[in-house]
Amino acid sequence: MTATLSTTEHDRNIAGLKYIYPVMSRRAGGLSIGINFNPNNACNWRCLYCQVPNLVAGNAPEMDFKRLEHELRHFLDYVQHGTFFQDFKVIDSQQIIKDIAISGNGEPTSLKNFSQAIQLIGDIASGYGIFPNSKFVVISNGSLLHQSNVQNGLKTLASFQGELWFKLDSATVAGRKLINNTGQSQQKLLQNLQIASSLCHTKLQTCMLHYRQQLWTDNEKQVYLQLLVSLQQQQISIQKIMLYSIARQSYQPEAEELRSMPSEEMHTFATEIAALGYEVSVSD
Ligand code: SF4
Repeated sequence: MTATLSTTEHDRNIAGLKYIYPVMSRRAGGLSIGINFNPNNACNWRCLYCQVPNLVAGNAPEMDFKRLEHELRHFLDYVQHGTFFQDFKVIDSQQIIKDIAISGNGEPTSLKNFSQAIQLIGDIASGYGIFPNSKFVVISNGSLLHQSNVQNGLKTLASFQGELWFKLDSATVAGRKLINNTGQSQQKLLQNLQIASSLCHTKLQTCMLHYRQQLWTDNEKQVYLQLLVSLQQQQISIQKIMLYSIARQSYQPEAEELRSMPSEEMHTFATEIAALGYEVSVSD
């Protein structure tokens, strides 16, 4: 392997593995070890900005646990005891594993044995001394939290001090219909947030973008702020709000019409969120 990993390199196949892919993460400031539960590019949502090529509607396929274990051990050996950082010409200051992130080409909680997979990854990473120093993150659209298998997985995640990054791109039903192509009701959203926050540390991950002058209007921003207030009133605990915009090419048909939100606009909104008492970050 002689490629150079950069913060813009997100090729899931760069390490030649089925489930594991390394990303030099600008967000994290080091190596993020991605684990892809959806090599079939299947998701139950279709977000306008989705960067999964050939995205299809569906769930994660059956997990090959032997292969997952073999790949993870092989890759961690390569990083910790091998020449990974040299082979990929990673600069000294970034030669650190910042996190293991379950984030793939689809919705990871749609995996039938989600809980078992979280346990396996947590056990292996702990055995290598990676946890608890590095973060264990599940990046999800949060839509399947009513399932007991998913809830068990989040309890397991919490046992490794892990956290859930819950996608919330709009606080309105119409906004989520437009940006995520989901019919998720407001009640369902609140239920899922309540479940998530009761089981593990939960952060909101919010993609801000413009599309046909319909997304992230002033009204959308106000409703989002109102939702954050209502979460506080209902004692639904959110650790942090993470705002970002589109930095890479969407593979959806609407790609040409999407516009990144200007940094200044995002920071202004972040200030309003912080004024409510939330920790907030902006990736721009
Ligand atoms: S939830 Fe994630 S994988 Fe699914 S469509 Fe949206 S961005 Fe793509």
